[in-house]
Amino acid sequence: MKDKIAEVQLTAESWSPQQVLAWAFETFGNAVAISSAFGAEGMVLIDMASRLRKDFRLFTVDTEFLFSETYNLMDRIEQKYGIKIERVFSLLSPEEQERVHGAALWTRDADQCCNLRKVEPLRRKLSELDAWITSIRRDQTSFRKGARKVEWDAKFGLVKVNPIADWTSKQVWRYLHEHDVPYNSLHDQNYPSIGCTHCTRAVRPGEDPRAGRWPGTDKTECGLHVIEIQPLTPLPEAEA
Ligand code: SF4
Repeated sequence: MKDKIAEVQLTAESWSPQQVLAWAFETFGNAVAISSAFGAEGMVLIDMASRLRKDFRLFTVDTEFLFSETYNLMDRIEQKYGIKIERVFSLLSPEEQERVHGAALWTRDADQCCNLRKVEPLRRKLSELDAWITSIRRDQTSFRKGARKVEWDAKFGLVKVNPIADWTSKQVWRYLHEHDVPYNSLHDQNYPSIGCTHCTRAVRPGEDPRAGRWPGTDKTECGLHVIEIQPLTPLPEAEA
């Protein structure tokens, strides 16, 4: 599979998001799924996918600490697109986590909490797939700037597809408005990036869009995208 990815990786950089998605569906069939936490970027992919394939797979890692607005959006997605979201949970319920690791683990060791509630469940889900599709963009965090549209994910051992890696936030919002795509109502209340209730706040004017995630710490990622993917071909000069 790595050889196949090396062949397509450079070419894929010139593809539109829809072309990348179509390639992923064609190549991996039912063994590829979109991973989403239903942020604005994820909603773009879900809408695009629905126009290409009615029965596309969509999963989410449900930490059981999500906002009610996020759960509400999940219901709206299932209704609008006629799909069932595959929900993956931690092996520990919130109550069990408190019993084993103490109260409010996220205030003492957010990395461990994210490992228990996000990374381990994701690893379990990805072990049943050949490829996963994410909505990361290169300009979101320093960890994401090297993302390719198609790449080998050495951390989880499968192909990672990032159809809107080269999009800007402006392009995301233009797509949502032009196609009347539902989105999380918290975005209209100064939450550009939305995760768990315990670790997300609204941003203030002038702050970085991800300043509301794990506020007061230098943590910017939950661990799903932090390990550098190993690009098999270098990024074109203009994008490096
Ligand atoms: S974002 Fe916060 S509450 Fe959610 S899993 Fe990570 S540390 Fe725990």
